[in-house]
Amino acid sequence: MRLSAKVLVVGGGPSGSIAARTLAENGVDVVLLEKNLSFIKPCGGGIPYSAFDELTIPKLTIKKEVKSIRIVSPTGERVDINLKSGSLAIIQRGDFDAALRRQAEQKGAKVIQGEFTKIINDKRYYKIQANIDDRKSEIVTGYIIAADGINSRVRNALKIKPSRTIFTVSEHIKEIQTEICEFWFASSHAPNFYSWVFPSLDGISTGTGCPDPRKVNDLFEIFKKRKSINQEGQKRVYRIPIWQGNLYNKGNILFAGDSAGQVLPLAYEGIYNAMKAGEFAARAILEGKADNYKKLWKARFQKRFILMDKLGNYFLKDDASIEKLVSLHKSPDIQEASERLWLSKETSKQSLLNYIKLFGKFLH
Ligand SMILES: Cc1cc2nc3c(=O)[nH]c(=O)nc-3n(C[C@H](O)[C@H](O)[C@H](O)COP(=O)(O)OP(=O)(O)OC[C@H]3O[C@@H](n4cnc5c(N)ncnc54)[C@H](O)[C@@H]3O)c2cc1C
Repeated sequence: MRLSAKVLVVGGGPSGSIAARTLAENGVDVVLLEKNLSFIKPCGGGIPYSAFDELTIPKLTIKKEVKSIRIVSPTGERVDINLKSGSLAIIQRGDFDAALRRQAEQKGAKVIQGEFTKIINDKRYYKIQANIDDRKSEIVTGYIIAADGINSRVRNALKIKPSRTIFTVSEHIKEIQTEICEFWFASSHAPNFYSWVFPSLDGISTGTGCPDPRKVNDLFEIFKKRKSINQEGQKRVYRIPIWQGNLYNKGNILFAGDSAGQVLPLAYEGIYNAMKAGEFAARAILEGKADNYKKLWKARFQKRFILMDKLGNYFLKDDASIEKLVSLHKSPDIQEASERLWLSKETSKQSLLNYIKLFGKFLH
């Protein structure tokens, strides 16, 4: 098979689908190539509710709405934060990703199940090879948006060093129900990260993470003991990138979402950021200049990412620091500032400055 399109989007997760939709609704000829249309990515599925209006995402995909978050310190101090200015929507990834791809298709994107394998030629146009219906196929295109996730084959094809990562192990357990999102901190089960319990469509999603793949399964068992979870679900191991902010585009190949490591430090929130990156990559192409992507991304996210990175480095480094982070959140002012920064996607300079004022002494 031989195909051509002005833009090829590789990967039909949140980033790729929003990129393809943005291009298609602006009349651009775009192919969205997804290697497995039935793939359900391991994910807690938590997205700020405000993202649904901001990105015109169908609210029918929301399975639960969470109004309260619990953070638990290494010594067991609990702080419950009732969300005042927003809420957290819980989606199910198979259903959510399919809904976004459908939107892209309705706007005119050509959605194809197939796997990008290599770049054959990158002279005037890109000629790439893909496996479509078990056959080697070629796609000729002017731009590529690499939205193919943490194991990006487009990134590998360009010999770009992969990001550092956190290894996670997670389970979906049907026998337990909850209405809140819990974040449990302690180096005994989640060094430099956290363990979580989120509501899901029909039970909970729970898991833990750490930088060392050899330890992650044992750490998860320790967390389950701490939380008294005796039930078993199907365990899935998957990686989350650690943001470095060093990959945007190489010529007319633009990297968006996990392929570019665009997960918010400390919170490790990726879905919203992947969708916005997809939108910005598409906008840069609409402006006819792939280099504009970096400018658009930085204008919107750079300050927030740097701030969260510094806070993450400070607070996730050991138990004493995490203890402090949880304790600080007993203050209603800190709760409000964190909520606005994370959930309301407050972008004003003032809100970042407020945050810096509250946390300034830790930001060195
Ligand atoms: C356990 C876990 C829990 C998480 N919980 C949350 C959470 O609650 N909230 C949150 O915001 N973030 C969460 N994240 C992070 C979030 O899942 C990711 O940041 C997000 O999925 C990134 O979206 P993406 O579109 O960039 O990549 P992906 O969602 O990974 O999509 C990439 C797509 O590309 C396809 N693909 C890959 N290779 C190829 C190829 N060669 N050819 C064609 N297609 C290809 C894949 O099949 C996939 O569909 C979690 C991550 C993990 C691992």
